[in-house]
Amino acid sequence: MEQQKLKGQSVLITGADSGIGRGVAISMAKAGAKALINFVHNQDSAEEVVSEIRSLGGEAISFKADVSQETEVQAMFAKHIETFGSIDIVVNNAGLQKDAKFTDMTLDEWNTVIGINLTGQFLCSREAAKLFIKQGVRNGVSRAAGKIICMSSVHEVIPWAGHVNYAASKGGINMFMKSIAQELAPHRIRVIGIGPGAIQTPINKDAWETPEALNKLLTLIPYGRIGQPEDIGNLAVWIASDEADYITGTTIFADGGMTLYPGFTDNG
Ligand code: NAD
Repeated sequence: MEQQKLKGQSVLITGADSGIGRGVAISMAKAGAKALINFVHNQDSAEEVVSEIRSLGGEAISFKADVSQETEVQAMFAKHIETFGSIDIVVNNAGLQKDAKFTDMTLDEWNTVIGINLTGQFLCSREAAKLFIKQGVRNGVSRAAGKIICMSSVHEVIPWAGHVNYAASKGGINMFMKSIAQELAPHRIRVIGIGPGAIQTPINKDAWETPEALNKLLTLIPYGRIGQPEDIGNLAVWIASDEADYITGTTIFADGGMTLYPGFTDNG
């Protein structure tokens, strides 16, 4: 085990069987947090994450729930409390894309993305907040009663043609995150967004799986490399730790400069 910034705490991470969620789960477990690994389809991958955490000396369980379904989310939080006794951190990570040209986009493609990416964050954050308020600050564990991390995207601020459902869900997360941060701060609950740039995961495989696609992608990243799940995992650990205790209601971008409008580097 490396640093133990989250010792004695537990975390619930949605969509933690793959990509960024998996990276965050492993980073937080290395930092000492016990983890509930949520999955919706792929139990084998979730069990692999659980095994990896156990092999590092940590504690973890997996739990199947669709974050867009209220009763499944409530059952997941009940399982977390039953297993770990309390809860300190929630990472709203589950998300997906259903891309289509705007005029071809079906209502189902719109509703599915909003339902999982945005309503899923509402359902999980609401359960978390109720538990954090009931629990209060646990002295000797953390200065906050709880921490909610909302996985957003650079598309919280960068418009994205052909992906309006996804961009709208991420723009929505920004105001959702800020509004609940304002409401929950007096309860000593911190709410923070993470805005990843291009991170190498299954969600954006088309953008990095061939050298041509990767080179095209790199023209959008001034720092010159694609991100890895652990880039986000390291940031999430720090956000959840007491080192970030005075931070709430903002999104932190981890994007190698993607939000710096690199198209203007040579005079626009
Ligand atoms: P991924 O496809 O590897 O992981 C997404 C996870 O969400 C999977 O585990 C999937 O099963 C889960 N999920 C989907 N629908 C769900 C549901 N209804 N209930 C529970 N879980 C569900 O992709 P990723 O890149 O790791 O994406 C994780 C998050 O990061 C998403 O919110 C995504 O929008 C965001 N993000 C990713 C990137 C990137 O470049 N990879 C950039 C910005 C933001």
